[in-house]
Amino acid sequence: MAQDAADVARLASAARTLTELDAAVSVCRACERLVQWREQVAAAPRASFAGQPYWGRPVPSFGDPDATALIVGLAPAAHGANRTGRMFTGDRSGDWLYQALHALGRASRPTSTHAGDGLELDDLRITALAHCAPPANKPTTQESATCGQWLDRELALMEPRLRAVLCLGSLAWNATLAAARRIGWDVPRPKPRFGHEAVATLLRRDGRPLRLIGCYHVSQQNTFTGVLTREMLLSALGKLWTSET
Ligand code: SF4
Repeated sequence: MAQDAADVARLASAARTLTELDAAVSVCRACERLVQWREQVAAAPRASFAGQPYWGRPVPSFGDPDATALIVGLAPAAHGANRTGRMFTGDRSGDWLYQALHALGRASRPTSTHAGDGLELDDLRITALAHCAPPANKPTTQESATCGQWLDRELALMEPRLRAVLCLGSLAWNATLAAARRIGWDVPRPKPRFGHEAVATLLRRDGRPLRLIGCYHVSQQNTFTGVLTREMLLSALGKLWTSET
């Protein structure tokens, strides 16, 4: 079990499959502040979820292990994925994301309410730059760097098949670019700028291109205010499986 950043580096490198990686992530305790927070939230459920057991642990990535497409989010929501144990499950952000993915034929259901609801993804995996719920939805720079080591390994394990990565928000965009550099992918300089539907081309270690796509985050801050509309989300997500720029 990872107790610090060095353990994360060692255990991430040792993971030979995504299943092994997910298992190591799900018991990680490397970030003291986040461990305390996720467990504190789990011990004091929101009134509307009283009586429900909270996951209260790191939330592993979710989806098709053979996917050519990956979505990188920010971090689990305190009463969403930190409660249900599955990425973007049990909150309004997830409602938006999975409804759009269902419309695109990539999610088997338009809703994502709990880990046993039968939802499956087709040719898509979903991860986050931090796997534990952070206070105020903001991991520190150090926490992002520590958890980023899991992302390094995830990208490396997916690399043979992966063709496109969609980043929800600028933090995910920057974390993915940093991870790509660390594992030896060629990232354009100057660094590509985040924007909704911004597209950058990275080169994997064997020289094959991979598309990085920006998308405003599906947080209520964006969806309630019209910064991100359903049409905008569908358009950005659709780019995961096309070659358009
Ligand atoms: S945020 Fe990541 S590195 Fe930190 S404790 Fe959670 S899983 Fe481990």
